[in-house]
Amino acid sequence: MTVAESKRDYYEVLGVDRTATRDQIKHAYRQLALQFHPDKNKDPGAAAKFRELAEAYAVLSDDTKRKEYDTTGHAGVSERWSSEDLMRDFQFGDFFGGRFGDLSGLFGDLLGRRMRPGTGATRGVDLRYDVELTLEEAARGGEKEIYLTRSERCADCGGSGAKAGTKPQACPDCRGTGQKQDVKTKKDMRLVTLTSCSRCQGRGQIVQSPCPLCQGGGYRFLPHTLKVKVPPGVDDGMMIRLPGQGEANANGGPPGDLLIRPHIRRHPIFERHGDDLYMIQSVTFPNAALGRTLRVPGLNGETLHVMIPAGTQSGTALRLNGKGMPKVGEKGKGDLFVVVEVRTPTELSDRERALLLELAKLQPSHEVKTSDSQLP
Ligand SMILES: [Zn+2]
Ligand SMILES: [Zn+2]
Repeated sequence: MTVAESKRDYYEVLGVDRTATRDQIKHAYRQLALQFHPDKNKDPGAAAKFRELAEAYAVLSDDTKRKEYDTTGHAGVSERWSSEDLMRDFQFGDFFGGRFGDLSGLFGDLLGRRMRPGTGATRGVDLRYDVELTLEEAARGGEKEIYLTRSERCADCGGSGAKAGTKPQACPDCRGTGQKQDVKTKKDMRLVTLTSCSRCQGRGQIVQSPCPLCQGGGYRFLPHTLKVKVPPGVDDGMMIRLPGQGEANANGGPPGDLLIRPHIRRHPIFERHGDDLYMIQSVTFPNAALGRTLRVPGLNGETLHVMIPAGTQSGTALRLNGKGMPKVGEKGKGDLFVVVEVRTPTELSDRERALLLELAKLQPSHEVKTSDSQLP
């Protein structure tokens, strides 16, 4: 399963509360959509992000669709509306005052495959959750708490939607199949068209007295605090899968998975390249020339000693073995490279100036000559 097939909570996508008003939702969508619009944002992930925003907005800006999502989550929405249905009344070009080009190509696979009731929908939707980690947290690993709201089968009615002591009845229109057959006979051919039953919305059942807790939907959005085990050394682009922690399945099948995508925040000192870390260390010209052992900070707050050999040039990377990031799923760590930056002194005291002049007189031939012809 790829990332594209998992879904994030629509409210989280737009960064709004579950109680947000239409205007707040519209405002949030507009801000984000302008930021990630593929005409403006050339980041490789921008188009996918924009599609995600558009889908979230198409659902949350429509009262009926929002209600369905609030009741049953992704499963219910994709069961009732195809991607074309969702986008039909939604003109993206108009929304931006015709500022951008045609986007129709972008929405071709907006919702991915549509799940039909009773066919193939064996598992709930996989949910995606993006978690931000500091470089230190990524190095340490361990448990990280995340807060997520997802739709789950209602505990009171077990997902049937029927009030305690009652049972949902088989839909009389489709006799519990969720589908209606339209049979036409043309000459000797029998044409059968299957459509989703409109009376029970394809569920095959009708609830006479709804469960008060879930209002008959059978599903509820519930907030959860989950502990995620972050492996030491985790990096952007990796995925942590929590089986069965995704969205409930509207047809009674097992829930989907929760896919955690870590994003590592930039660090003020260290830059990460795979398992290795890089840091820049300023060194005065005399120390670079004479050599010296310097103290530098390690990622875990420890003090490390790095030996600057005599005659070190600016740009030299000095390796500290095993002081980088842990290797995920393996023993050992990457290295820390201390990149030396030799600082040329700028504000000189009289004494320093005199000493440097003396040094300059002693070393007239030390200038690097790229070619003799360039000299006067
Ligand atoms: Zn029916
Ligand atoms: Zn219920």
